[in-house]
Amino acid sequence: MSKLKIAIQKKGRLSEKSLALLRECGIKISNGTSKLKANAKNFPIEVLYLRDDDIPQYVEQQVADIGILGENEVIEKNKEVDVIENLGFAGCRLSLAIPKEIDYQGLEYFRGARIATSYPNILSNFFKTNNINAAIEEISGSVEIAPSIGLADAVCDIVSTGSTLFTNGLKEVETVITSQAVLVANPNLPAEKKAILDRLLFRIRAVQRASENKYILLNAPDNALEEIKSVLPGMKSPTILPLAQEGWSSLHSVVKEDEFWDVIDQLKTLGAQGILVVPIEKMVM
Ligand code: ATP
Ligand code: MG
Repeated sequence: MSKLKIAIQKKGRLSEKSLALLRECGIKISNGTSKLKANAKNFPIEVLYLRDDDIPQYVEQQVADIGILGENEVIEKNKEVDVIENLGFAGCRLSLAIPKEIDYQGLEYFRGARIATSYPNILSNFFKTNNINAAIEEISGSVEIAPSIGLADAVCDIVSTGSTLFTNGLKEVETVITSQAVLVANPNLPAEKKAILDRLLFRIRAVQRASENKYILLNAPDNALEEIKSVLPGMKSPTILPLAQEGWSSLHSVVKEDEFWDVIDQLKTLGAQGILVVPIEKMVM
């Protein structure tokens, strides 16, 4: 039987979470990341541990069938791969940063400047779109020190909190792209592998949906149930069970994590009591 080969980052910011996602999908990987390859015990998948930079090329060439990596690398490498799913972790942005004492007035600052980056393609597209002529210095790592050693006037680098920039005397002035981890696939997978990918995707979506939703239980007076039901529609409709105390019911439903506090406020106003909110492990529609 054929196996789906998935490339994930061997060592770095994406490794842990990529493995955790597979684990949450019920896929047991036999050995650690010390080897180049590992098999799953209970799912037709083989894991290849690679540098994230190499994943687009390997997926294009079908050395791997699918991969997990940052959108930033997908865009930079511009290979023939399909982005199948946003995975919601490793959120960051690719930004332009300049020495913090400079009074920044706008993109004009970059005209004729030297900018150090590991993302020359994304940056040159950005400058082209904005009609800026600048010299891009491609370097593969420690981009943030380039201005202090006199290699560049600015950097274009990955930022999440900005603290690395700050400690290197830089400030972020423009966002070039935003990024998160994504699942990519070779566009021409044979039907057998496509079927395995669909099974994997089904599980990934169940895991993601679960993390975006909470299970909610509450007690409410019967006369408030209609209104509470409209605030908490649930997956199909909420479960309502009578309480031992006359005139009261218990209501169970799901609530979206990001609407959670608004919903709680409304529920309290409607007379709900004893509200419990618990995490959901998997959510299959
Ligand atoms: P490799 O050795 O595999 O090439 P790397 O040094 O290129 O590793 P990491 O620093 O581990 O890569 O980052 C991998 C990806 O994680 C980046 O391409 C980006 O998508 C994301 N990332 C990088 N820095 C951050 C950050 N500070 N916060 C959130 N996500 C980040
Ligand atoms: Mg890399």
